[in-house]
Parts: sequence; C-alpha cells; structure tokens
Amino acid sequence: SLSDRLAATFKNLKGKGRLSEADIDATAREIRRALLDADVAVPVVREFIAHIKERSLGEEVSQALNPGQQVVKIVNDELVGILGGETRRLNLAKNPPTVIMLVGLQGAGKTTLAGKLSQHLKEQGHTPMLVAADLQRPNAVKQLQVNGERAGVPVYAPHPGVSSEFEDATGDPVQVARDGVAEAKAKYNDVVIVDTAGRLGVDSELMEQAANIRSAVQPDEVLFVLDAMIGQDAVATAQSFNEGVGFTGVVLSKLDGDARGGAALSVRSVTGKPVMFASTGESLSDFEVFHPDRMASRILDMGDVMSLIEQAERSWDKAEAEKMAQKFVDQEDFTLDDFLDQMQQIKNMGSMKKLLMMMPGAQGMRQQLEQFDDRQIDRIEAIIRSMTPHERVAPKIINGSRRARIARGSGVQVSEVNGLLERFGQAQKMMKKMASGGGMPGMPGMPG
Ligand code: GDP
Ligand code: MG
Repeated sequence: SLSDRLAATFKNLKGKGRLSEADIDATAREIRRALLDADVAVPVVREFIAHIKERSLGEEVSQALNPGQQVVKIVNDELVGILGGETRRLNLAKNPPTVIMLVGLQGAGKTTLAGKLSQHLKEQGHTPMLVAADLQRPNAVKQLQVNGERAGVPVYAPHPGVSSEFEDATGDPVQVARDGVAEAKAKYNDVVIVDTAGRLGVDSELMEQAANIRSAVQPDEVLFVLDAMIGQDAVATAQSFNEGVGFTGVVLSKLDGDARGGAALSVRSVTGKPVMFASTGESLSDFEVFHPDRMASRILDMGDVMSLIEQAERSWDKAEAEKMAQKFVDQEDFTLDDFLDQMQQIKNMGSMKKLLMMMPGAQGMRQQLEQFDDRQIDRIEAIIRSMTPHERVAPKIINGSRRARIARGSGVQVSEVNGLLERFGQAQKMMKKMASGGGMPGMPGMPG
C-alpha cells in the first residue's frame, strides 16, 4: 500500500532539516503512483504533481514533521482544497419550482439518483416531483416510477402506469420535460427533478436532445452524474457533456465499489465544476453530500499516513509546551515581564478566583491575589511599566532611589512598589520550588 511505501520513504528522509528537491521528488513519485492507481486522469496528475513540487519548495520547513510527511500533508491540503474549493449547496429558485436536470451516460446512475435526491429533498422539507423525460430506454419510465414510489414522491410521466417492460415509451422528451415542470408548478411542488436519457457512449444526437431539454426548462441546476468506476474515461465524458449540454455540478455514483474516486479530482480540475453529491449503493438511502476531506483520503488511500502525521504534530506541540513550561518554572527566567503577562492573562480571562489555583505561585500569592480586582491589576501594570527593561529582569537592582522613581512614574506610593516587589519575590521562590519538585499541577494549557 501507499502507506508502506511511504513509510520507507519517511525513514530515508527523517532527520534532515531542509526540504530539498530530491526529498520532494521521492515523495512526489509515490503520490503520483497513488493518484494514477486511483484513476486520476494522466494530464491532471502531471499538473497536480508539478504544482505540489512548486508549492513544497517554497514552503517553510515544518518543525513538527519530517520532509516526507510535510509533503504528504501539503498534498492532502491541496487535494481537499481543489475538491472542496467551491463546494456549495443546491441552487434553489427564488420563484419555485426549482428545476434540477440530470444528465450523464446510460447506466451512470441518473434514475437511481433521481429517487435518492428526491428523498433527500423531502427529508429537508421540500415537496419534490420527478419527471420521466427518458423515453429512449425500455422500462426507463417504469424505473423512475418505482423509485418515486419508494421515496414517496410523485412522478410525472408521459403515459402514467401504462409503460411496461416490453414497451418503449413514446413521445417527445422535450415536451414531456416542459409539461412536467408546468405540472409541478400547478401542483405546488417546489422542486422538479428531470430524469433524462443517456447512451452508452457520447453521442451528438443525445447531446442535442439534452441541450434542447435544458433550453426548454431552464434548470437552476444541471447535475452531471458520473460513474466513479469509469476510470480514465471520466475526463473525456465530462468534457463532452460540459460542452454539449453544460452542467453546474457533479454527482459521483457507485462509490460503494472499488473505485478510489480519482474521477472527482479529474472532473473538478478539468471542468471547474464542483462535486456536490455521492451515490454509494443501490438503495435510496445510499446517498451523501460530498465530503472533500473523505474523498482526498480515499484518493490517496493513506488514512494511516495522515493519522501518523497528526500524531507527529500533536507530540511536537506537546514537546514545545513542555519546553515553554520548563522555561516558565526556571527561576532565573521568570521576570517581572512574565509576572505582568500572567496578570494580564488573568484580567483577560475574567474570573480571577477560579484561576488562582491554576497559576504558578498561586499558593504563595493567594491571599494577596484574592483581594485583587482589575483596577489593582492596572496599578501593577503601571508600576511594572515604569521600570526599565533591566529592572524587570533583575529586580535585585531596584534600590531605594529607583523605587521612588518608579512610584512617581506610576503615580503610586513607594509602599505599593515595595509590596509588589515582595509579592513578586514570593512568586519567584514558589516557581523555583516547583521547578526542583518537577511538577506543576494544574497549570493552564500545559499537559498534566
Ligand atoms: P441511468 O441509466 O443513468 O439512469 O442509471 P441507473 O440509475 O438506471 O443505474 C444503472 C445501474 O447502476 C442500476 O442497476 C443501478 O441500480 C446501479 N446503480 C446506480 N447507482 C449506484 C450506486 O451508487 N452504487 C451501485 N452499486 N449501483 C448503482
Ligand atoms: Mg435512467
């Protein structure tokens, strides 16, 4: 699997500080293979890999991840970005009914989707109607009627109840579509889903029919239904439909199969149209709003690689937090600036009393702190701001004349300056004690 191959790549890369072109190439080779395995169209893969290389080279080196992991993360982010860049909801008409037209090759899953989508819309409080404008295929009308019945949604058909397995529906599909939309309007159905015919291959007559239906009913959405199993043909098919009929969104069907869904990336890249829904089985409920992140990890087939990456990032965060905590408890490093920061954090966070016990040095300062209010914190701030930078890091040098100057500068009595320095000394001592004891129970934001 990709994960195994990448694990080997990671081993080679581990420990290097910088992202070199060779590092990126090694990972890019694996990503290219994964994308081709997922049936992403060859030109799309080429373009994507070039883009990734370019972006990775410009990227600042992560401290949490090794270079290989970092490239994989960039790949994943880019994929999610491309797949979800313009994810949007169905475009509903200001004046109902909203008209949704389905197009795609025969067998793509349009008629099945019509049932699923109508059920989905019904669950959202809409009152959809289905229109059977596929008069090409024997039994197509009947199939839509069955789906409509299952979903509990009305179906407009040229000869309701008459079509049978042995009889082709007759009539003009453009007229049926037009009449169906008028029927929905008259019956106050707020969404109309127009099912259309498809051929086994791209065909100009079929395109023309679909284009005519489109101009006749002026749909708010034209959804191109694409079988995810179609593989490398996805791009050419999508391009033909985009040029021949035009569509506003894509539905990927048969994602319950082996297909890794590379078609999603191909079609998105080539047509710029968003994938909106996914069809994942033959029953009505096998239907999902499209999730770019799930699709990205399906295409790359690297769920476990991503979780390794997340783990690495988390443990790095933890190490950083511990390093900071260590600096915090180091008596030499704890300055009046840090003390002021803490005061301000308390002020920002509001409820001081609750936070008292969480603060380093809380035990020593508790009594004094309990009498604090925000105005007192303001005074402390004024006092500390009246000190020179040197005084803040080396309070020992603050002698009598300096205390007088600080008091004047901050508009307080010298006794208040004395009191503050005394409390600071206690806090410092407390820090030292905790540092030697090793523990810092309950410090905010620090792992316990
Ligand atoms: P249409 O020709 O575009 O209308 O395609 P249909 O809706 O008639 O579907 C063609 C076949 O694919 C039928 O046998 C469906 O049951 C099946 N089908 C449609 N969608 C899915 C899907 O998401 N998963 C699976 N496994 N089968 C599907
Ligand atoms: Mg059909």
